[in-house]
Amino acid sequence: MRLWGTVMILSTLALAGALSPVPSSRALESPARAGASSWRWSCDELNTRWKTYHAELHVRWAYASFTCPSPLSSFVEAMALLHDLVPPQPERSAGHVSNYFAWLAATSRGIDYADQETAGAMAHYHGTGVITIMNPFFKAPLIQRAEMLVHEGRHAMWPADPGHVTCDQGEERGLAGGCDAEFHREDAGGGGYSWGWVFMWHLMEDPRAAAQEHAQILAVLKWELNNRFNVLGPDDKSFFMKRWNWDGL
Ligand SMILES: [Zn+2]
Repeated sequence: MRLWGTVMILSTLALAGALSPVPSSRALESPARAGASSWRWSCDELNTRWKTYHAELHVRWAYASFTCPSPLSSFVEAMALLHDLVPPQPERSAGHVSNYFAWLAATSRGIDYADQETAGAMAHYHGTGVITIMNPFFKAPLIQRAEMLVHEGRHAMWPADPGHVTCDQGEERGLAGGCDAEFHREDAGGGGYSWGWVFMWHLMEDPRAAAQEHAQILAVLKWELNNRFNVLGPDDKSFFMKRWNWDGL
């Protein structure tokens, strides 16, 4: 079933129940973790970047500086991760995206905010290409905030985005819009879950990821590979088990 209208990302909320434990954004930003990874930017740095990001992403709320941590700093931090990640090219990026920030800025026609608790983010279909951020977004760990933006960016690629289908397997069997019909590892044909997954794959192999982040990313990747795609390629599981020494999927 193709979902028309608006499609909401379900990953973060679903994962809150699926992973044990899911680190809270507070835990990720606690002083104890400072310096554990270079995926961190000072508040001054984020504020400086925000001026450019605000314009390039056509953000629809008024520009203003912010303190850290704050909802706005968590949004800009996710954008900074998209900006700084350098995906390996060209063979391992779903959309052959050379930079996720530049892609998102070119793909989406705007970023909006809605004071709602229903999902982390959603993209409006029918070619409007606007991505709306909602309150659960700000509470998600950094990697999932960034993944949500990639996921919704794929939806903004209307009509190329194939959309989602009802899961016919896995923990979310029967959930409308909970799965992509097929996992696409090496081409751009997949839906938002495939694109989000490939983005996380790049994060996983980015040398700046800290050990704690490896564990967190692997847990998400593993859960999603098993539960977000109705069909995997014949060697997808063995490919990643070999690549990352996974002991079972
Ligand atoms: Zn979606």
